Amino acid sequence: MSNQADLIVNDLHVVVEKNEILKGLNLTVPQGEVHALMGPNGSGKSTLAYTLMGHPNYTVTGGEVIFKGQNILDLESEERARLGLFLAFQYPTAITGVTMFNFLRTAVKAIHGDSITPTQFRKQIREKMALLKMDDSFMRRYLNDGFSGGEKKRAEILQLALLRPEFAIMDETDSGLDIDALRTVAQGVSTLADGRMGVLIITHYQRILNYIKPQHVHIMVDGAIVESGGGELVDQLEQRGYEKWVGDTALAAKGV
Ligand code: ADP
Ligand code: MG
Repeated sequence: MSNQADLIVNDLHVVVEKNEILKGLNLTVPQGEVHALMGPNGSGKSTLAYTLMGHPNYTVTGGEVIFKGQNILDLESEERARLGLFLAFQYPTAITGVTMFNFLRTAVKAIHGDSITPTQFRKQIREKMALLKMDDSFMRRYLNDGFSGGEKKRAEILQLALLRPEFAIMDETDSGLDIDALRTVAQGVSTLADGRMGVLIITHYQRILNYIKPQHVHIMVDGAIVESGGGELVDQLEQRGYEKWVGDTALAAKGV
């Protein structure tokens, strides 16, 4: 039995510049659950995120991704967003001369249409900012113009709050996220998810998982999931790193 808003990845194969990076990846995130996808650098985590968002450099050579009864791989990026998928980094990181307000207005319009007035929208933003404990002055700032890591994440979380997707994929690119940024993401996701939004948090380090407890943790090595479990996997990782899992696949590759 599967729910409409489960995200189901079946035997996904993806090639980047003639190299197969995802090698038969299987992953299910049930509706409303928060899952973490962890793996060493180069295992293909970001490749999965880019593929889910429909980036043209990532060529799918096999498999499917089912969301709301459709194989989303057949859809354009915007159609995926309209279906209720939120992909962090689907927007350019710096757009000069665009305020947060205008950026958010455009992003929401693109997905939900132009059904509310600017005044109503401003009110909605105020409510979300209060919910996320953000300062009002943020609205008047220019998008990513001198934003700190924490502020960029705050913009992303605010976007998430306004778009109200059913499923969010957050690729925490690992580098440059300070504690402030980590907390912003973790608290924002906890506040917004609340059983109503599925989330896939992609990360190399366990740090963010000190602030947010996913229902399931998946370990990815060399383009496939090698183990899925609960929080105990994060503890194992903290103690021993990825060695255990990397060793397993190295042996498997040799046919041992
Ligand atoms: P992760 O996010 O787990 O660190 P990536 O998905 O970024 O891993 O990368 C997996 C592999 O795919 C790496 O070997 C990387 O060099 C390669 N790769 C990813 N994106 C590209 C790209 N745009 N062009 C060439 N190679 C890429
Ligand atoms: Mg990455």
